[in-house]
Amino acid sequence: MAIALIGLPTDRGSSFLRGCAGGPAAIRAALHGGSSNLFAENGVDVGAVLVDAGDLALDGTPGEIDAITAGVAAQLALGHEVIALGGDHAVTYPVLRAVAAAQPGLSILHFDAHPDLYDSYDGDRYSHACPFARIMEDGLARRLVQVGIRADTAALRAQAARFGVVSVGMDRLGELPGLLPDGPVYVSIDLDGLDPAYAPGVSHHEPGGLSTRQVIAAIHALAGPVIGGDIVELNPVRDVNGMTAMVAAKLLRELAGTMRRPGR
Ligand code: MN
Ligand code: MN
Repeated sequence: MAIALIGLPTDRGSSFLRGCAGGPAAIRAALHGGSSNLFAENGVDVGAVLVDAGDLALDGTPGEIDAITAGVAAQLALGHEVIALGGDHAVTYPVLRAVAAAQPGLSILHFDAHPDLYDSYDGDRYSHACPFARIMEDGLARRLVQVGIRADTAALRAQAARFGVVSVGMDRLGELPGLLPDGPVYVSIDLDGLDPAYAPGVSHHEPGGLSTRQVIAAIHALAGPVIGGDIVELNPVRDVNGMTAMVAAKLLRELAGTMRRPGR
């Protein structure tokens, strides 16, 4: 079974700045830039398991939500697993609709500065501030663990309680090992979960965040099979020397390598 890499070049759901539509191209350029190789740290040759499915043609209208679900479902129907490259975080809901249909009972490990649990944001229920509200309403995840949260509000805390979300804020990161989901896990990486010192190329800088190594260690620590994921919110317009694109490419290698780790 191959892992299909599918680009979702959209910033339709972005509430503050445009630019994330350039994310897939920047991540691919970093991945294949020649300054590193395609091996994950566990020895898996990611170049041998990834199949690049290209970018979906997205038109920036609300209908692209359904186009994303259909595009991901088409890759799953070919027998592939999927890693999606955003695009803003609004893509995760339509991606999950397809993945959860193929894999009921999955859990989600979600890295982010923000819970993305608003019922609606600026009048848009499909904003990048809302995907996990839609996911939990639809029952697409058995368990949602959010890591790196540090821009919470009272309304968001109420939403987290309503949906039974496990929120691991930066102030309780030490508890993460005991809170990681088991069973099949989908990993959603919003690059603003990392500290802006590691990942400046995002629309929403929120200082006090995760290190690249903390994200990698959490992915490596997952006990169950990792069955897919996404890397979102890279905004190349805001990047510095391509360093955030390189972080995204590194996390892509580690995510794919974990999906194919030896002995599983
Ligand atoms: Mn997000
Ligand atoms: Mn975020």
